[in-house]
Amino acid sequence: MKTQDYPAAVLELIAALKRMPGVGSRGAERLALWFLQQGRGEARRLAEALTRAADSVGYCPECGFFAESGARCTACSDAARDAGLLCVVEQATDVLPIERCGCYRGLYHCLGGRISPLDGVMPEDLSVERLLERVRAHPGCEVILALGSDVEGEATALYLAEQLAALPCRTTRLAQGMPAGAGPGHADAITLMRALEGRQRL
Ligand SMILES: [Zn+2]
Repeated sequence: MKTQDYPAAVLELIAALKRMPGVGSRGAERLALWFLQQGRGEARRLAEALTRAADSVGYCPECGFFAESGARCTACSDAARDAGLLCVVEQATDVLPIERCGCYRGLYHCLGGRISPLDGVMPEDLSVERLLERVRAHPGCEVILALGSDVEGEATALYLAEQLAALPCRTTRLAQGMPAGAGPGHADAITLMRALEGRQRL
């Protein structure tokens, strides 16, 4: 006797959904069944949106943020932006949190990762040369390193600071300190140390 199971097409759909980040076996099955119950319209809408995004979205050749294929991103094509400010982030996904805080009017540069010899990521795997080119093209600019505060982020910041030292720019990094809404009792030792180092006159 054969065991009853979903038709092959449904099993393939579940397997494809399961490959997505954050979707487990049960979640994938639930999504697949939901699509089947919605009829063809919903499935076609998703298929078309996926195809359009995959076909038309690439990376900005200037900064590495998401952009329509072959085109520069919104920030790089905005003449109102301060081209003398270059905020360096690890990933393209780090741009929007900074953008949404509403207090930054400069440009960005996405490295595409951070130096991590254990994971086989070396400086030449990152968009460092392009960053140096951009800095040379804007003498006198400020390069703001907005990298992670972990070991890899620190190593990447130090490497970039060395590379940038010989160029006509000012290199700064994001201040690190106390999390909003919490006192010293809620901060770890490294955060507390950096908050003390970065203290300001009131
Ligand atoms: Zn761009």
